[in-house]
Amino acid sequence: MWLRRALVGIGVLAGGGVAAYFLVNNSLSVPPYAGQESDHFADGHFKNPWPTEEHGFADFLRWQLSSERGPWREWTGAEPGPAPPPKVEGGRLRVTFVNHATTLVQMDGLNVLTDPVWSERVSPFTWAGPKRVRPPGIRFEDLPRIDAVVISHNHYDHMDVETLRRLKEAHAPRFFVGLGNAPVLERAGVGGATELDWWQSAGLGGGVEVVGVPAQHFSGRSLRDRNRALWSGYLLKGPSGVVYFAGDTGAGPHFAQIRERHGPPRLALLPIGAYMPRWFMRPVHVSPDESLAAHADLGARTSVAIHFGTFPLADDGETEAVEALRRALPEGRDDFWVLDFGEGRDVP
Ligand code: ZN
Ligand code: ZN
Repeated sequence: MWLRRALVGIGVLAGGGVAAYFLVNNSLSVPPYAGQESDHFADGHFKNPWPTEEHGFADFLRWQLSSERGPWREWTGAEPGPAPPPKVEGGRLRVTFVNHATTLVQMDGLNVLTDPVWSERVSPFTWAGPKRVRPPGIRFEDLPRIDAVVISHNHYDHMDVETLRRLKEAHAPRFFVGLGNAPVLERAGVGGATELDWWQSAGLGGGVEVVGVPAQHFSGRSLRDRNRALWSGYLLKGPSGVVYFAGDTGAGPHFAQIRERHGPPRLALLPIGAYMPRWFMRPVHVSPDESLAAHADLGARTSVAIHFGTFPLADDGETEAVEALRRALPEGRDDFWVLDFGEGRDVP
């Protein structure tokens, strides 16, 4: 056992060393922030709305060396879901779960994607890093016209520039990012993104606005650019109600604050996965239990689970988050949904 552990350790350190070399020596880094003033930006870094425990690279290595990973399938050749309708109007609200944090929200005649990822890997490299275990739940070609894309933060499992380029070419949508992220997209050939600070909003037309909201998380695309750009959740507010997309977040008072400022959402898209081990993940990713508590804090009418089952990112196995959520949900509750990959549903 100790020998296996030692060999794994050497492998992780060697692999980590190679990756670190590339992460320091290429142009992946987010440029220093030089935009509008923000009260949660100081000394070159954004910070969480309240003090949180921070884990650095040493903690990351400690986790890698001690990790007990739950099982994931190598690949499941699931069939994609049916093409979503071209648009949804008349007060109806429809959500389609694509994979991970990628969903399609259809409301008030608008089609909005959250953190769209159609790529094979969520990594700076094409040859290494977390690889999807299932195809995207919706074929890229089956997407209806996309009006807007909201991007919660610049981690690779949320900001997939390859997919954003494809979307720009095929749909020319509006892109929304947190402060400091537009230059990263610009460099990748996706210019013109709108940056929003927490609580800032922009109009989408049709009486719908997009509002950046706080999240408890962090950012970075290399080893040298931690927290140079902001992380956020979003609200979509329109005649048919409020939709909340949490992005990546740990538990905190922001769920109650969002409800206070903007009212209880009709739909909340809440992460449940990549939560193990708790000592490492607690500050940055809610557990299924905490997600259920967030649903209550928000007063959400319906919530939909996201951020599980597509990319092996943490120690929880492929189905562990969903099983934990189901155990935590009281019998007969039908206001916290786990949709199939590619499943779309009208939200009450
Ligand atoms: Zn993240
Ligand atoms: Zn994530």
